Amino acid sequence: MQVFREWGRALEELLFPPELPCGLCRERPALDVGACRICLDALNIRWEKGAAGSYPYFSLFPYQGFGRDLIHEMKFQGRIEIAAALGVLLGTACREEPDLARVHLLVPVPLAPRRMAERGFNQAAVLADNIRGVWKRPVCSQIVRVRETKPQSGLSLKERKRNLRRAFALLPGTSLKNRCCLIIDDVITSGQTFAALARLVEHYGGRPMGLFAARTEKWGLEEVAEEL
Ligand SMILES: [Zn+2]
Repeated sequence: MQVFREWGRALEELLFPPELPCGLCRERPALDVGACRICLDALNIRWEKGAAGSYPYFSLFPYQGFGRDLIHEMKFQGRIEIAAALGVLLGTACREEPDLARVHLLVPVPLAPRRMAERGFNQAAVLADNIRGVWKRPVCSQIVRVRETKPQSGLSLKERKRNLRRAFALLPGTSLKNRCCLIIDDVITSGQTFAALARLVEHYGGRPMGLFAARTEKWGLEEVAEEL
């Protein structure tokens, strides 16, 4: 009888799949992009193309209001499921963007080991893994942080550049030659971290582009939160 009950349950789940909760609020049922309509509206999604110097990048929503609160919760309250949900949204947007069709590799911005230990996960790596889930591109984890850097927040533009000098390296045995590499992180503020990684990719013959969940609309030190 037990077997029949299990079959019954399996059949029921097949016919009436349980509604998954929204990955952002965990309250309302999710649409097929993994978040609910109310959260999507509150994020104020506007897919935009920008550039840091000569390096193009895309971003999904402004770093303010609900979107900013979510990113704070993700980082400082360890809510990894927010990074997963944002990754699905980003992957869905990437699939629709013709300029990204030539991307070969997803390159999450590596997190400093000390911050990794504090947070328990690298939000950029979680974003990349979930982007890969909906937009089939391999993740390159061969770019690493080789030098502990100070948090970028509170530094001037010049200090930010200096802070990032020789911060990243490519592990031996990896070729980026002629590969279009999409550098991924949760927020772009001054763009210095992105530019430092983009220079590294270029140095090894790759073609860098960027992808960020959120962007600061106007860069000023007082409103820069954390380019960690
Ligand atoms: Zn929601």
